[in-house]
Amino acid sequence: MTNYSIKGARSASGTPIDLHIVDGRLAAQSGAGAEVIEADGLLALPGLVDIHTHLREPGFEASETVASGTACAARGGFTAVFAMANTNPVTDSVERAAYVAELGRAAGNTDVFPIGSITIGLGGEQLSPIAEMAAAGVRIFSDDGKCVMNSALMRQALQLSADNNVIIAQHSQDHVLAGPDAAADERTVAAELGITGWPWAAESIMIARDVQLAELTGGRLHSCHVTTAESVDVVRWAKARGIRVTAEATPHHLLLDSELLRAKDTTFKVNPPLRGAEDIEALRAGLADGTIDLVGTDHAPHDPASKQGGFAQAKPGMLGLEQALASVIETMVNTGRMDWADVVRVMSTTPARLTDIPDQGGMLRVGEVANLVLIDPTRRAVVDREKSLSKARNNPYHGMELPDPIEMTFYSGRLTYSRRA
Ligand SMILES: [Zn+2]
Repeated sequence: MTNYSIKGARSASGTPIDLHIVDGRLAAQSGAGAEVIEADGLLALPGLVDIHTHLREPGFEASETVASGTACAARGGFTAVFAMANTNPVTDSVERAAYVAELGRAAGNTDVFPIGSITIGLGGEQLSPIAEMAAAGVRIFSDDGKCVMNSALMRQALQLSADNNVIIAQHSQDHVLAGPDAAADERTVAAELGITGWPWAAESIMIARDVQLAELTGGRLHSCHVTTAESVDVVRWAKARGIRVTAEATPHHLLLDSELLRAKDTTFKVNPPLRGAEDIEALRAGLADGTIDLVGTDHAPHDPASKQGGFAQAKPGMLGLEQALASVIETMVNTGRMDWADVVRVMSTTPARLTDIPDQGGMLRVGEVANLVLIDPTRRAVVDREKSLSKARNNPYHGMELPDPIEMTFYSGRLTYSRRA
């Protein structure tokens, strides 16, 4: 494999850092025949880690495959992604998890860790073989897309989480309160636009229930895509009480607001929905003060047919991997709320530590596997959805002028994306 010497970069703390990649690992000196990469003005950060990615394979290959989704991830600076379980078939067995992991290895763009479903077939009635899958190495379980509504079942899942040291990641939505057609933020634009409202309380109600079930069982709860001020308050309360809960913000909920729905473009339909300015402010404050632990993309590719039929019919979800860092830079760094070390924490170190995966979220020290990203902290560009490496085109940032930071991504010492190529 090619050896590299990266010259002139700085670390997240601003320190000059010369990086030598030799046989896939960081080394003290350059290796034989090393290719020199001039990196003046660039920052070298550990590869980003996303614990919330929809890769759509098996079952929905018209929208994305493991190969296309992870190519997209590499372009976004990621070196590891966790693949959500809502494929067809659902990832609800050891064999199906192994199959997704194998697709990831075959693609070779990033580490791919399968997420197991909490319930068989996402049916919400019978638990998946969580202990067995945990023993086989599955670290996160989620019915994402659907909330586990049955409190007794959720208690059992969290008990298994405690017993097997795995994470239960909940899509927090009371499906009765926010009915099947809920598609826009009720507190801001839904009524005016004639779109069925998604009430804020449907999210925080479930988080409040689940943190108490986590306290009851000692289980590890992760709250996916938190979007409201009330949810942030509930998580803050739970953490102050010592409950084992972590929480996630998505790039789109940090940057985009419900006003975008005025265009009546179903690209902006996502679940939970884009919220208003006050919720966005609470989310950013929560990420800055550590109440929200990490950024998860909820990258959700959809083929064009899935986005047709208006707001009631279109499937929810938007692309996220390629503009994730751009959103965090725009909302958190360029506003002075976070520095680069904070960015590394919420997009690499914390997701890697939380899931205890090897060789990710490192400190770019000699001897480590070379999972890293070179970024240009000041470069900006207008997003063009046609340039995406995703098979899908539901990119909510299309046409927006945003940071365009990713210069090169190295996964296990291999160059998996380069702007210069
Ligand atoms: Zn979800």
